Amino acid sequence: MSRLAQTAGLTDVQQEILSTVRDFVDKEIIPVATQLEHRDEYPTEIVEGLKELGLFGLMIPEEYGGLGESLLTYALCVEEIARGWMSVSGIINTHFIVAYMLKQHGTQEQKDTFLPRMALGEVRGAFSMSEPALGSDVSAITSKGVREGDEYILNGQKMWLTNGGTSTLVAVLCRSDEGHPEGTAAHKSMTTFLVEKEAGFGEVRPGLTIPGKIDKMGYKGVDTTELIMDGLRIPANRVLGGTTGRGFYQMMDGVEVGRVNVAARGCGVAQRAFELGVSYAQQRQTFGKPIAQHQAIQFKLAEMATKVEAAHAMMVNAARKKDSGERNDLEAGMAKYLASEYCKEVVEDAFRIHGGYGFSKEYEIERLYREAPMLLIGEGTAEIQKMIIGRRLLEEYRFQG
Ligand SMILES: Cc1cc2nc3c(=O)[nH]c(=O)nc-3n(C[C@H](O)[C@H](O)[C@H](O)COP(=O)(O)OP(=O)(O)OC[C@H]3O[C@@H](n4cnc5c(N)ncnc54)[C@H](O)[C@@H]3O)c2cc1C
Repeated sequence: MSRLAQTAGLTDVQQEILSTVRDFVDKEIIPVATQLEHRDEYPTEIVEGLKELGLFGLMIPEEYGGLGESLLTYALCVEEIARGWMSVSGIINTHFIVAYMLKQHGTQEQKDTFLPRMALGEVRGAFSMSEPALGSDVSAITSKGVREGDEYILNGQKMWLTNGGTSTLVAVLCRSDEGHPEGTAAHKSMTTFLVEKEAGFGEVRPGLTIPGKIDKMGYKGVDTTELIMDGLRIPANRVLGGTTGRGFYQMMDGVEVGRVNVAARGCGVAQRAFELGVSYAQQRQTFGKPIAQHQAIQFKLAEMATKVEAAHAMMVNAARKKDSGERNDLEAGMAKYLASEYCKEVVEDAFRIHGGYGFSKEYEIERLYREAPMLLIGEGTAEIQKMIIGRRLLEEYRFQG
């Protein structure tokens, strides 16, 4: 067990889950991650292993066949998995967000239909807000759902769906006209539609096309896709929660837990980078001694470890806040912002410690160097986190003059 990133006050059950996941990561993920990533290959065997461990149902309530664990347990598992390979944490992240949105906002029929199969990993979730022309500015969405009898007809183009090809249930955010006349505030005229589909690419359901994988600089293995809706018919009972106009709020709730999750990924990737850096620094000799004995390198290691500790503490704090039922937008925004920035810095320091070898695809740090930037963008960029943090601070510290 590492000295860094420890979490006080965990129950025996939480400790057991984490030690099982850590063991799985060390034995089943780390040895194959870099090879699979270079081939951009989907980690089918690893995903089967995660299913067996019950990780797809970790936070799904026990009454639906899940383990009913907290956001904290989930985030700590994500941290472990990202330490092995960030792409694997991406595979469960969108699944987890959709399961969370169903648990919090779904009708009883929707929960009964999807959650038990999601807990087993038979139904796999993806969520879709972004479009080609927008990511940060969610209120500008143009995809539209129009009511026709007992159905909605969906049209529009979506972008950047993590697990777009492998998922079988996509929570899609659209503007909806029903009951929301022209002039209704953007965030009050959006609806989340639960879209079931076949896994794969091409026309996966009449009116719904997943064109293919987007070729990315990193975060490979996991598929990221577009989604095109052209007259897609969705039964009215697949409006999340049964009421239109709640989609923006539902998605923001999902993204808030997703932010803790991205922070946890940043922590995991940073920990791995530190492990690689501290190990290499004791093996590589220059000027007659291991580079770890040069003060400049020791200082780097000290800074890296401090960042790993700080990011972990903020991530745990944000998860605990949400678990306590309190609003955690401030803490989640801060944790996501800090953990992703620190992750990028720790990875870069580990890369520098590796000298020229860091640039070689034979070394794991090369993969981490291409993965870390994704965390600066996903679930809201650093600028968007700072906007959320700033607004919340002005609410909390309102001038009472
Ligand atoms: C690998 C990957 C996976 C993804 N997975 C998903 C997914 O599963 N589902 C999904 O819905 N989306 C997903 N996304 C999309 C992601 O959420 C968006 O890329 C992100 O929100 C940024 O949006 P954008 O790319 O449109 O950038 P833009 O919104 O165009 O922003 C461009 C730049 O301008 C800055 N900016 C924007 N507005 C402001 C402002 N008001 N003030 C200051 N600066 C500003 C941004 O911070 C950024 O630096 C994924 C993205 C990637 C790269």
